[in-house]
Amino acid sequence: MNIHEYQAKQLLKEYGVNVLDGGVAYTPAEARAAAEKLGGPVFVVKSQIHAGGRGKGKFKEAAAGEAGGVRVVKSVDDVEANATQMLGNTLVTHQSGAEGKEVKRVYIEDGCDIASELYLAFLIDRATDSVTIMASTEGGMDIETVAEETPEKILTVSIDPTTGIMPFHTRQVAFGLGLKGAQIKACSKILASMYKAFVELDASMLEINPLVVTGDDDLVALDAKMNFDSNALYRQKAVMEMRDEDEEDAMELEASKHDLNYIKLDGTIGCMVNGAGLAMGTMDIIKLYGGEPANFLDVGGGATKERVTEAFKLILSDSNVEGILVNIFGGIMRCDVIADGVVAAAREVSLNVPLVVRLEGTNVEQGKKILSESGLPIITADNLADAAEKVVKAVKEAA
Ligand code: ADP
Ligand code: MG
Repeated sequence: MNIHEYQAKQLLKEYGVNVLDGGVAYTPAEARAAAEKLGGPVFVVKSQIHAGGRGKGKFKEAAAGEAGGVRVVKSVDDVEANATQMLGNTLVTHQSGAEGKEVKRVYIEDGCDIASELYLAFLIDRATDSVTIMASTEGGMDIETVAEETPEKILTVSIDPTTGIMPFHTRQVAFGLGLKGAQIKACSKILASMYKAFVELDASMLEINPLVVTGDDDLVALDAKMNFDSNALYRQKAVMEMRDEDEEDAMELEASKHDLNYIKLDGTIGCMVNGAGLAMGTMDIIKLYGGEPANFLDVGGGATKERVTEAFKLILSDSNVEGILVNIFGGIMRCDVIADGVVAAAREVSLNVPLVVRLEGTNVEQGKKILSESGLPIITADNLADAAEKVVKAVKEAA
């Protein structure tokens, strides 16, 4: 799960990371009030969306002006005017996808006196089984470009989880970043704070880009991005409260409410499968027969009729879906339960695309009987290859 920049800054501040004062605003009037509270003389108006690259982003609407999603202004009036332009408009960045994201909140922050911009991130490195620091002098810009073009400018330091962060780690980073004097101490402090926040909050990623060296040798987090392990959210109440469902894919959100593992894809063949491995295999074989999956969907091992119905409705609510393949291996899951769910859902939402069902395993005969007696135009298949071939063919014929 992701959160907004201003929320990440709130969390990090509690752990002792230096951030500037600021206030979030949902309306131009709130933006004005936030600016008045800060006092100026320089303010920054920052669009809050779950995508990076806002500074270099572009708004879709002419009303939002030519400037990007992060703007430095010098009066309260200009804060209000820029917030008015941003709010309700769609910002497109290199991370937002072409459709962009609507700005519903802005963050009004004090302006910063920037001497230089660094990059600092904590992430989980599976190769070394450890929390790893990534640091670079090339802050402020797109780190993927740095990694590609000048990988030698990225320093990585892995932290043994049994010792946690140690002074030698922080010195390695500080020297690697070319810091001097008081900056080294500031670097140790921010790294220790970030590590503590990362571990205690069950983060999977914490990125500060840029981390700014100020005119008086202090280090300030000017941007902050945090990502959390969703399996740990049950014990992260404060983080959970920061969830912004507006930023999440509407269908994936609906799926998560029903405990379905759903990921939307670009193709036309909707898949309903039990088990992540079988779901992957099903997507592969659809491609093998020349089709493209519209989604990954694992209904889980012990799905109920209701969950199967919800899953089916979810697939059908995707307007790209031109055919559906239900592929279930009944182990714990019984084929008759699946069949009941499919029939119930197909009746509830009028089924207007070809449906191929392949069932195997526990109670398969009863399942097949339910399907054939339902009177619905269901194409049955005997094995995985047969099912994939049939659904791809049915979609082509229907087109
Ligand atoms: P993004 O990474 O989404 O583009 P940032 O928060 O990193 O957004 O802002 C982009 C750039 O804007 C920063 O690299 C920095 O140069 C400038 N900037 C951001 N916040 C401030 C601030 N409070 N004061 C001065 N400049 C800022
Ligand atoms: Mg940034």
